[in-house]
Amino acid sequence: MMAADPSSTPDGKAAPGCPVGVLKCPYPEGLAQLHQELERLAHQVRTDPLTGVANYRFFSEALEQEIERSQRNGRPTSLLMIDIDHFKKVNDTHGHEIGNQALIHVAGLISRQVRKLDIVCRYGGEEFAVILPETDLYAGIPVAERIRLSLADTPLNLDAFDLSLSASLGLATYHPYSSSSAEELISQADHYLYEAKQRGRNQLCHADAPSSESITSEEKQTLFKLFGRGAKTKD
Ligand code: GH3
Ligand code: MG
Ligand code: MG
Repeated sequence: MMAADPSSTPDGKAAPGCPVGVLKCPYPEGLAQLHQELERLAHQVRTDPLTGVANYRFFSEALEQEIERSQRNGRPTSLLMIDIDHFKKVNDTHGHEIGNQALIHVAGLISRQVRKLDIVCRYGGEEFAVILPETDLYAGIPVAERIRLSLADTPLNLDAFDLSLSASLGLATYHPYSSSSAEELISQADHYLYEAKQRGRNQLCHADAPSSESITSEEKQTLFKLFGRGAKTKD
């Protein structure tokens, strides 16, 4: 038989940090409740209250972390920015409450199209961002297209009518052998999002896939360090 876990309360929940030690703690249930409350508050701090996806604060921290991870493990991180088209018109025509329902609908559709480790955030207003860890441009494009199609093909069903929506998307990739930063990645994704709007909306724009000729000698050296002789590039 296994010994009881000294860090657990009778209901099996962890009782964190009692100064007299967990076994002698006179208020184990109170401590467990406090712990739960802390977890609830921590969740609240990182969540957008309307849509339930991560908020901007969490996005900023998570993107910095993923960039750092990319630098350590040598794998790229992609960032997708999504902006609902003509959203002001939705509010103006149908009211703010239906606008809110549309935002919840869009957040749900985006979340359903991505992997568990991808991070869906409300970037602000009617803009969403998805951090795609360990994803290069080639892998990011089909994810972005899937999201775009899902938004365009799945109207919000309301009692009186169906509300059709679409979004414009910008996709950019952070390469660990480049010297760019989280801010630069955001501004690149934003740039392509702007281009998607300019080109007529309901579309995805992204950088050209990098050709071997466009890789600098510094990047070649880093690739060589990462992959050895397998990383063939043209001189
Ligand atoms: P574009 O196609 O160029 O993206 O135009 P747009 O109308 O989508 O963009 P614009 O920036 O002109 O308007 C965004 C609108 O989103 C205006 C703002 O009132 C609305 N909005 C922002 N946050 C919320 C929210 O939480 N709820 C609702 N209902 N509307 C919001
Ligand atoms: Mg916008
Ligand atoms: Mg918009």
